[in-house]
Amino acid sequence: MDILKKARSMLEKYPLCDSCLGRQFALLGYGLSNAERGRAVKTTLFLTAHLRLKEGDEEALKVIRDLASNGFFEPARAFLEKIGQEVPPRPEECYLCCGMTVKVGELASKALEALKDYEFYNFLVGIELPPEIEEREDALRAEFGIEHAEALRNELSREIGKLISKALNVPVEYRKPDILILVRPSEGTVEVQPNPVFIAGRYRKLVRGIPQAKWICTRCGGRGCPRCNWTGKLYPTSISELVCEPVIEAFQGEDAAFHAAGREDIDARMLGPGRPFVVEVKRPRKRKVDLRALEEEINRRAKGMVSVSGLKYVDRDFIRRVKSEKAEKIYEVVVKFDRPVSDEELSRLEEAFSGITIRQRTPLRVLHRRPDKTRIRSVRELKVIKRLGPDVVRIRVRCDGGLYVKELVTGDEGRTRPSISELIRAGAQVLELDVVDVLMEGV
Ligand SMILES: [Zn+2]
Ligand SMILES: [Zn+2]
Repeated sequence: MDILKKARSMLEKYPLCDSCLGRQFALLGYGLSNAERGRAVKTTLFLTAHLRLKEGDEEALKVIRDLASNGFFEPARAFLEKIGQEVPPRPEECYLCCGMTVKVGELASKALEALKDYEFYNFLVGIELPPEIEEREDALRAEFGIEHAEALRNELSREIGKLISKALNVPVEYRKPDILILVRPSEGTVEVQPNPVFIAGRYRKLVRGIPQAKWICTRCGGRGCPRCNWTGKLYPTSISELVCEPVIEAFQGEDAAFHAAGREDIDARMLGPGRPFVVEVKRPRKRKVDLRALEEEINRRAKGMVSVSGLKYVDRDFIRRVKSEKAEKIYEVVVKFDRPVSDEELSRLEEAFSGITIRQRTPLRVLHRRPDKTRIRSVRELKVIKRLGPDVVRIRVRCDGGLYVKELVTGDEGRTRPSISELIRAGAQVLELDVVDVLMEGV
């Protein structure tokens, strides 16, 4: 069946605006809007019917009447009036779009208004339609064997996108748009959903006693109680808060998430080049800020407790890279034995623990919040870097990520094997622990 015959039978049965009729043939021709397609088809039907009428085919009058009513086609109405025929009433609205396609200008204006507080360099228009509208469109295509159509949501998304793009001179981006403009044409509403901005860097923790994440008070659950001095948290601050607050302010975001390459204990420092992290700024109004100035501001406000460096823009995939536990870590540990140790014993320790596999059950101190399992990790290198007393030494350990270093020293009642305590055959405890590097390339 050809285009005109299909169009004719659709208009015989359903009221269809220019866009909705043209959209049924959207994949035919090029450089035309669907409204132009629909208008051209209706015009051709009109001319053909007029010719048939002239040749005495009274049936053709029915085509012109359908164009005047279901086709919303004004020339057909004028024609009927001119030849003294009854003009049929106009239908209430288009069967497929219920008038939505003529509202794209209005919807685009609403979107522009909602966008005015946001900085963005590309965008995507998402369309939410009531399911019955999409079902109706599918049913119509099946009924008339339509094979070259486009979906209503595509047309609306593209046409609204074109108008926004033209007004702001900003392109549409399908894969990773800065901002999603969610339009509900049937309700006439527009909602703006800015995607997060991701900032990576490394942090150093220069003092002990600060947790990485905000630690909500376990007694009151954050509401405030005497135990937490009505702050709702167990520590006055955290690395996450010290870093995220200035970032949220700079990007005028609503919230932020802090993702880091593992974490050090509260009583351990993080020195050397620092630990990689990513801040995910949620619903930011700004997307480009001076990161050097932001870095200085974070460091100024953290007052020597924490410092960050190397801030850069990254995308979401970077979080997975940073969070992978695989990165090797280098620690410096001050170990105290329960008896003096000889230089010979220390050389044996270095030798035995350079390139060794450790079987470690979940440490007793974290067993209340972690499942009990055995992990296999390697110590790549162990060096005694300074003797601080007959029974106290500073050692440097390079090991796999995920190894608990305190337990590597103490043995954790036999749950970590072998351990430094086991090898020296003396009780050993950790006086100080610092992370001095997280070996991660390009981060
Ligand atoms: Zn329509
Ligand atoms: Zn509390």
